[in-house]
Amino acid sequence: MGAIIIDGAAMARQVLEEQKSAAGLLAQRGCVPGLAVVLVGDDPASAVYVRSKERACREAGVSTFDTRLPAATTTAEMLEKIDALNNDVRVHGILVQLPLPAHIDAVTVLQHIDPAKDVDGFTWRSLGALLDGHALLAPCTPSGCMLMLERAGVPVAGRQAVVIGRSSIVGKPAALMLLQRNATVTICHSRTPELAAITRAADILICAAGKPRMVTADMVKPGAAVIDVGINRLPDGKLCGDVDYDAVQERAGWITPVPGGVGPMTVAMVIANVIAAAGRLTS
Ligand code: NAD
Repeated sequence: MGAIIIDGAAMARQVLEEQKSAAGLLAQRGCVPGLAVVLVGDDPASAVYVRSKERACREAGVSTFDTRLPAATTTAEMLEKIDALNNDVRVHGILVQLPLPAHIDAVTVLQHIDPAKDVDGFTWRSLGALLDGHALLAPCTPSGCMLMLERAGVPVAGRQAVVIGRSSIVGKPAALMLLQRNATVTICHSRTPELAAITRAADILICAAGKPRMVTADMVKPGAAVIDVGINRLPDGKLCGDVDYDAVQERAGWITPVPGGVGPMTVAMVIANVIAAAGRLTS
């Protein structure tokens, strides 16, 4: 029997509907939640991501403040722009689309965002709060993964969870969130030997390495929940995840597709963070 497919696109639509109701309640108090998306340069993939976030904002009743800057923008100019957005009362969430051009100091720029408006959850204040179990605004991709597990009815407490990838935006926060939900968590990375032996013990496997189809069926415990965060472009132009989907779905208990899995949930969680931030900033 094949795995239960966790339909991230359908789940994201449901989250957006819920957020639309929450935005409606804020509107009754005279607050229209607002998201500023800062896009530097003309990277086509980044432009696609920004458009999908703006579309989701429109669906949920969130205003957008589109900030497009030329590729030659300096770090100092970025900091000025972030200052302006930090001080703009119409803006409740600030999102800097990554990657930034190499000449911009991305760490300095991201750490300049007011933590109260940090809807990506990348500031050290937000990450520190997550470490201490008090998420202010949590990173959207891992919180989307956690909501998928929850709504699909995957038990987490007391289970073995393995996260492949240790980035600060996906792997590490995903591990912290699983720990917070009382899983026993192992983080694997590019220097982990015997990866398959570790992943085979996982009841929950979150894959965020950015390596096309690296997780094969023999690496997965029968009945496991497999959440595929990876987005990889194949030479034929098609997208695939980090998981060998066709083979793994025969063995797993739950699986997320790519596309249509974690991606749309990430966007929905951005909107949820904007509305949560707007609620806090205007209460
Ligand atoms: P990253 O490059 O910062 O981190 C990748 C991690 O994977 C590293 O910690 C590395 O040690 C580990 N890794 C690499 N090769 C490995 C291997 N062979 N075995 C074990 N570990 C290995 O990437 P990231 O920003 O964390 O993103 C990971 C993937 O998730 C990418 O494909 C990215 O496009 C995707 N992503 C998707 C969403 C979404 O919304 N669906 C959001 C963010 C990132």
